[in-house]
Amino acid sequence: MKKPTGDLALIKKMNTAIVLDAIVKKAPLSRANISELTGLNKATVSSLVQDLIDANLVLEIGMGQSSGGRKPVMLIFNRTAGYAVGIDLGVNYIRGVLTDLEGGVIFEAEVALHRHALEHVLPELYRLIESLMAQSPESPYGVVGIGIGVPGIVDESGTILFAPNLKWKQVELEHLVSDRYDLPVFIDNEANAGAQGEQKYGAGRGIAHQIYVSVGIGIGTGIILNKELYKGASGFSGELGHLSIDLAGKPCSCGNLGCWELYASEHALLEMAAPLGYGSLRELIQAADQGDEAAQELFRRIGADLGVGLANVVNVFNPEVVIIGNRMSLAQRWIEDSVRDTVTKRTLSYHRKELRILFAELGEQSAVRGAAYYAIHQFFHRVKGGA
Ligand SMILES: [Zn+2]
Repeated sequence: MKKPTGDLALIKKMNTAIVLDAIVKKAPLSRANISELTGLNKATVSSLVQDLIDANLVLEIGMGQSSGGRKPVMLIFNRTAGYAVGIDLGVNYIRGVLTDLEGGVIFEAEVALHRHALEHVLPELYRLIESLMAQSPESPYGVVGIGIGVPGIVDESGTILFAPNLKWKQVELEHLVSDRYDLPVFIDNEANAGAQGEQKYGAGRGIAHQIYVSVGIGIGTGIILNKELYKGASGFSGELGHLSIDLAGKPCSCGNLGCWELYASEHALLEMAAPLGYGSLRELIQAADQGDEAAQELFRRIGADLGVGLANVVNVFNPEVVIIGNRMSLAQRWIEDSVRDTVTKRTLSYHRKELRILFAELGEQSAVRGAAYYAIHQFFHRVKGGA
């Protein structure tokens, strides 16, 4: 038979994508199941499945249940056909994971960052990426890509325009990393990456309208509407840490006054904790756990200020869930009540009727898992015949 051309080739691509999608989402499936699910005829399904098996993307496993007659062979997605690297470049750490193609973590590593100069951070970043890649088992596709979440504003070409806490401007990170490894690289803001992580693997699974609030040194948000990340006209959406919650409040590095993150971030918490003699979030949580009322009161206050900003977010977006993530999620038990009380008091009743406030299920891994997802997502796009 001649190789299909033009429209036929396009139809084949589309059908292959449909079959692969069905297997990724609903496996184990028999060929007959796929035919029923997709409406494609059995001969077409068999031929496309064979292509996917030949491409190492689909595996046959044992025998399924039969409704009579011969037992069908079941098909699953070959999640170890390749691996992805996810990186969360923080302000004082770099965290990395190696995942399979379903996003399952195979290996993880973290290094502390003590200096922020690019010439110091880049070698650390490369070392971490290489240590993760070295853990990747033999596989048909190898490492398929690298996703990196960063604490700053990123444009569509993967350039970090501004990362205030690292004091970086105009860093072409995507170019640097993809040139070095000759692999697809995807850079996004850490709050967007965290939102993706929770949407795919964490508390936001199956939820269409989700706002992820990354509360670390600053506050960033990742907005998921209709299960898609909303990035705005230039990719800069979600800078809700700079929402004013105090009209004549403290000056912010962004030029505004009274920004939310000045009152409700980890940085704000530690500023208030210093006079009490506590220097880290973990120390403060430990003190609260041991009954220190001043520490408990501090968390209540941060929780209330977090709630004020969240109330605005809820009134604007009418989400089904708000997920509080990053470092502050570690203090869930101490901030949860005051967050909820404040949101209840300050949101419109219609908006909070269906609202759930959750904490990141992936804890501190939301962003790093989301970063790996970017690489996986692009891999699927390529094997389905996209650009
Ligand atoms: Zn600001």
